[in-house]
Amino acid sequence: MGLTGLEIFKQLPKTNCKDCGHPTCLAFAMAMAAGKAGLDQCPHVSEAAKEALGAASAPPVALVKIGTGEKELTLGNETVLFRHDKRFEHPTGIAITVSDTAGKEEIAARVGQINKLVFDRVGQLHSVNLVAVTNDSGDADKFVAAVKVAAENTAYPLILITEDTAAMEKALEVVGSKKPLLCGATAANYEGMTALAKKYEAPMVVKGADLNGLAELVEKVVALGHKQLILDSGAREVHKVLADQTQIRRQALKRFRPFGYPTITFVTNEDPVQAVADAAVYICKYAGIVVLQTADPADILPLITLRLNIYTDPQKPIAVESKIYEIGNPGPDSPVYITTNFSLTYFCVAGDVEASRVPGYILPVDTDGISVLTGWAAGKFTPEKIAEMLKNSGIAEKVSHRKVIIPGGVAVLSGKLQELSGWEVLVGPRESSGIPSFLKQRWNV
Ligand code: SF4
Repeated sequence: MGLTGLEIFKQLPKTNCKDCGHPTCLAFAMAMAAGKAGLDQCPHVSEAAKEALGAASAPPVALVKIGTGEKELTLGNETVLFRHDKRFEHPTGIAITVSDTAGKEEIAARVGQINKLVFDRVGQLHSVNLVAVTNDSGDADKFVAAVKVAAENTAYPLILITEDTAAMEKALEVVGSKKPLLCGATAANYEGMTALAKKYEAPMVVKGADLNGLAELVEKVVALGHKQLILDSGAREVHKVLADQTQIRRQALKRFRPFGYPTITFVTNEDPVQAVADAAVYICKYAGIVVLQTADPADILPLITLRLNIYTDPQKPIAVESKIYEIGNPGPDSPVYITTNFSLTYFCVAGDVEASRVPGYILPVDTDGISVLTGWAAGKFTPEKIAEMLKNSGIAEKVSHRKVIIPGGVAVLSGKLQELSGWEVLVGPRESSGIPSFLKQRWNV
């Protein structure tokens, strides 16, 4: 169990100086006990207090990194059970398996297929994160050969799946510098596997036969001096995995240290539809990594979309950059549309402008990512901000006319905007789906 707010408070300077962003030391202590503040936010805390509060200030789920370079995957630092309590910090890493029973060309082709699993969703690129090489052959040399081919053909971090310490050692001689995830340590091999993980400073999966076995094994591995761990409860049936994932997160938040690490789950269902459904459960319920056998884009896209939804910060709307967007190949006579930079709003407008088959310019005003009517009600979508965008975006150099179309829902802005900007303001349809017919009736330059 972690320290209570009062226990933390006793260790603080009690000056109420507010430098931590909290009104009092007690408020800060309470926030820290709830996992919503870190000790480093108080610049005045003594060394003795730092030592005493170290465990309480550490995140309930440790931060673990896999791989190196641009595609390095970061997991952990989670502080809540439910996304709406704050947010989930690091999205579930999606791993796709590559078996060492396949030939070199087949492995290279499969890895190439995995590399292509990149999708554009609301203006952002989303992809899978890891390539998991499995030692299905049971042969160390075949495993090393497969690991080598995979590493040569992808920039994604690798998961090395073998419980054979000798095979793992040989594979690490080839790819150890890339900090792959060792998968992993069991009750039978943990000493040798931990020694390898320490030698290469690589993260390691600890697999228990059940939750009790897992907790015991984690304590043994930590006692050997390795803390970059990922937990595998050993469960493979969806109901058992769900129960274990939930229990691990709950206990981690209660500061039960053996469970204070990200988790890994394996989708083993042979029914392809059920496999995607199982993976969806794991993404929703705390899996740090989901290992899948499918590399079919039709299976991966829904999971990536789900992950995007679950791991979006509920306090921060998804926004597009506030700049000129060209739809089609617009020219000097093309219409100019104003909207807000809330992603869903922007993409609705962009889709409907495209559907009109009349190339145009869209200028999403920065409203901190909120929609048209909310932005107007919050004073973030104002004639002043729209006029500023018309002036500073450079749109005046791109078009020869001075007509701008605003959303019908904010017709009330038109008079002031016209006065401030000098542009003729056309009040567009209330819904962007009305843009095609609006253009036919009202647009002529
Ligand atoms: S910065 Fe430290 S001393 Fe100042 S109010 Fe916050 S907890 Fe108290």
